[in-house]
Amino acid sequence: MAARLAAIGLRSDWDFVLHLPLRYEDETVVVPIDALHEGNEAQVEGTVTAADVVFRGRRQLRVTVRDDAGGTLVLRFLHFYPSQIKQLEVGRRLRAFGMARGGLAGVEMVHPRVRVVRDGEPLPAALTPIYPTTAGVPQGWLRRRIERALHAVDLRDVLDPLRARWRLHPLRAALERLHHPPPAADPVRLADRTDPAWQRLKFDELVAQQIALRFARASRQRRRAPALHADGLSERLLAALPFTLTTAQQRVWRDIEADMANEHPMQRLVQGDVGSGKTVVAALAAARAIECGWQAALMAPTELLAEQHFGRVVHWLAPLGVRTTWLAGRLTPAAKRKAQAQVAGGEAQLVIGTHALIQDAVRFDKLALAIIDEQHRFGVAQRLALRDADATVAPHMLMLSATPIPRTLAMSYLADLDVSVIDELPPGRQTVVTKLVSTRRRDEVLARIRADVAAGRQAYWVCPLIEESEAVEAAAAIQTHARIAELLPELRVGLLHGQLPAAEKTAVMQRFASCAIDVLVATTVVEVGVDVPNATLMVIEHAERFGLAQLHQLRGRVGRGGEQSYCILMYEGPLSDTARERLRIVYETSDGFEVARRDLMIRGPGEFLGSRQSGVPLLRLADLERDAGLVEQAREAAHMLLQTDVAAAREHVRRWYEGRYDFLAA
Ligand code: ADP
Ligand code: MG
Repeated sequence: MAARLAAIGLRSDWDFVLHLPLRYEDETVVVPIDALHEGNEAQVEGTVTAADVVFRGRRQLRVTVRDDAGGTLVLRFLHFYPSQIKQLEVGRRLRAFGMARGGLAGVEMVHPRVRVVRDGEPLPAALTPIYPTTAGVPQGWLRRRIERALHAVDLRDVLDPLRARWRLHPLRAALERLHHPPPAADPVRLADRTDPAWQRLKFDELVAQQIALRFARASRQRRRAPALHADGLSERLLAALPFTLTTAQQRVWRDIEADMANEHPMQRLVQGDVGSGKTVVAALAAARAIECGWQAALMAPTELLAEQHFGRVVHWLAPLGVRTTWLAGRLTPAAKRKAQAQVAGGEAQLVIGTHALIQDAVRFDKLALAIIDEQHRFGVAQRLALRDADATVAPHMLMLSATPIPRTLAMSYLADLDVSVIDELPPGRQTVVTKLVSTRRRDEVLARIRADVAAGRQAYWVCPLIEESEAVEAAAAIQTHARIAELLPELRVGLLHGQLPAAEKTAVMQRFASCAIDVLVATTVVEVGVDVPNATLMVIEHAERFGLAQLHQLRGRVGRGGEQSYCILMYEGPLSDTARERLRIVYETSDGFEVARRDLMIRGPGEFLGSRQSGVPLLRLADLERDAGLVEQAREAAHMLLQTDVAAAREHVRRWYEGRYDFLAA
């Protein structure tokens, strides 16, 4: 039982107290059997007039009850124990709660909840809570266990001093109301969780999350990191760049410089829409670590992207004498050992690669900076693994994300990070023009590609997303490539998908970048980071199958040079209403933040957080979109509580998270 309960997060008494009902059933009234309608969920009370085990295709228990008004109802049980047959024998008085259905012989209930009662036994005074549960944990048992927990815990309201300001329901009353709502409670507000008691508990949950994140942050900040100051290299890199930083890049770089000069580890997330120029800021940070005699690591979620960073960063830093090592999963064992030795021996000043960077065999000599590109693609656990590469000093952490994080999400799950935003694109960029085109107009799209290539430009053709597997997706890409090559015989059509050997992927990308390929047919491997400024047309086939953030990312592959770029979202009609709505959002919105906000509404926060086992307290009651206002209030409340009564803040977090999250131990 303990293991089953633990699996649904129930360990301490407070876990049970805070395990709130999914919905309620009204057993406070008894409905006359003759008043039942098909589809009614109701309670009846009557005397058993017949009980038989019968065969109707399978063995079943059939019990007939008659109520005081003379109505009769059949209760049907497909699974039953001998003890139930005995319990439901003729003459017994019982209450049954269930869904009324039309049966062959009048109304019946299949598997109602039944209880034998004494004649005249009083009805419950409160609605019956139905709790989320799991196999092997019956409602009745859970209800009694929660009752016990409610009596066992100290229900002192630690947020009492905050109640007046946010007009909060008292804690005890709120819990009482949610676990045993009075029959007069508004069932709609209970069900949709807008009842004041629900608001109170959601508020408490959000406050707990805020406090926990602040504690986590504080404990990280107690760790020591090398304080790094400018010593030549970063200035030389700045001077050598073929462009000047935008104002936004300069501002963000100053934030990073200040953090890195601190003797406690930086925890900064740099957010910038696709093409805003995050890589150069990361390269400057790496130069800062290196000029002080330390190492830096840059980790990217895909080999393709890591390779592109490698190419670009080496191009910038090698002329300045920086030694960079490549470390990815697909190196030969010998090459990998050699790379690891360079990292461990300190010969490598900068290491660029994929997840291979955080594997056990990698030991850094003096890691001072860990950069994680497209951080949302990694789980928090991976982010922490890189941080713990060396136990004596904690490296500074710099995270980059092109997936704009909606405000509520930034305030809740990511509240332990400092955030800098690059809210400006390099000069000369134009907004990508987005078009919605039915697949029936494929010929026009092909004509468009021919014209663009004739004008010296290049195009991407992204194949439909296929959920099953990378292999299926690759197969589809191969087919599409053959088709497009046939339709555009005069053009040089390339192919890129996840199943190609790494060397071939690199070769294809190089040919595309050097204009030896006109049209690149690709899967979503080109989604992140790929940067070929001469490509000005992005065609996405079956755009209706993609996520919003993904479409925005893909669109960001064009519009990277000075030329006007286009993104054609091809769809296969007829579209469902939601598909139409989703495509309309991408069509109407070029602002990644707005796309992300709407995406959050559709998909929920999991997508943004990467791994669900993230170690960050996930919300059980509150909903970031619907309860956005509460998030803001909870943040303020957490701040006030920490200022006025740290012990109360600790107690509050303990109630919500004890035993769940390791970082609370710190
Ligand atoms: P992202 O933020 O999407 O990672 P990148 O770092 O790949 O963007 O930068 C996109 C392109 O813009 C690259 O070709 C990069 O060299 C260029 N770039 C970056 N900063 C500037 C700037 N300040 N002026 C001009 N071009 C820039
Ligand atoms: Mg990038």
